[in-house]
Amino acid sequence: MPLRAELQGETLFSYKMSPKEWDDMKQSDLKKFLTLPCCNERAVVKTSALGTQFFAHYRKSEDCILKPESKEHLRLKAIVSAAAESAGWTVTTEYIGYSENGDKWIADVYCTKGKAKIALEIQLSPQTEKELNARHKRYVESEVRDAWFMKDSVYVNSGHSSIHSFPRFQIKHFMDSRSMPQMSDYPLSVAQFVDALLRGGFVWKEDKDEILLYYMKSKCWRCKIDLNVPIGLGDTACSNFDKFICTVPNCSNFYESLMARVDNYELKHLGLTTIGPHHITGNAPNFPYCVKCTSCHAPQANAYTLQDYRDWSEKVGRDSYHVVLSSYSHSGRYELTALSKGKR
Ligand SMILES: [Zn+2]
Ligand SMILES: [Zn+2]
Repeated sequence: MPLRAELQGETLFSYKMSPKEWDDMKQSDLKKFLTLPCCNERAVVKTSALGTQFFAHYRKSEDCILKPESKEHLRLKAIVSAAAESAGWTVTTEYIGYSENGDKWIADVYCTKGKAKIALEIQLSPQTEKELNARHKRYVESEVRDAWFMKDSVYVNSGHSSIHSFPRFQIKHFMDSRSMPQMSDYPLSVAQFVDALLRGGFVWKEDKDEILLYYMKSKCWRCKIDLNVPIGLGDTACSNFDKFICTVPNCSNFYESLMARVDNYELKHLGLTTIGPHHITGNAPNFPYCVKCTSCHAPQANAYTLQDYRDWSEKVGRDSYHVVLSSYSHSGRYELTALSKGKR
């Protein structure tokens, strides 16, 4: 249901009209000349149960592309429109556009400023991930950026949410006219959020996770020099992935698999002991991989390393020392910039 109507060549936005102006319009004879931009049918002036002023079809139009909207949707649309407007953008509600290959789309709140075009969409009704992606694609093809404000369940079902080019946000407290709709993941009302978003108050922050190599401080059994001996691998994304040496044969497996990630040149560069296969007493038969002294190059038997590791994890803690082997990113989120935080 639209927030926009035409009256004798002039565009009216219901959310910009004062309650007095709205009442006057309801009483006025002019209302007969109100038409809707979606289908040019006659419009009527209404107020929803949540107090939102809106226009409705005088009679049901067969070929109108506007779908019925809930009163919550209508109210959010009015709130988002007013916020976008106050952030200095030109706003058109229920804007009809076409993608390059002629697909028609209709944006809840279409905002322009110079060359920038943004569609703000409110999505409270269920929507399949496929349908949502198709709607997003139409915006991409039309060179319009889109941002989505979604009810929690819709957000959760919308697939991956943390995509830079496809911003999706959860909203709450929009069912009741006594409370202002809020963002679920930001300490802001929907209006404050839209204002910050359209003023460039958000930056995309990638979540960086790291592969860690844990080590302990030990001494060479032969020359007694200090050694940094690798004892485990971890991932900052989840400590469940942490792996530490635990038996004599497992030490060999651990060092052998470590070689697949990092070579001796790199280990030396990181200040750690190097690794090699050595068939010596103190290594399990057929499990020859162990660390070597950085100074005298004597292999350190795994039985010796494991004993040292047990004392170390009890006294110092097995995850006390680490180096970073690599970092990667798998998701991210929009964060308020320090500047816009300071303004609040
Ligand atoms: Zn219509
Ligand atoms: Zn040594």
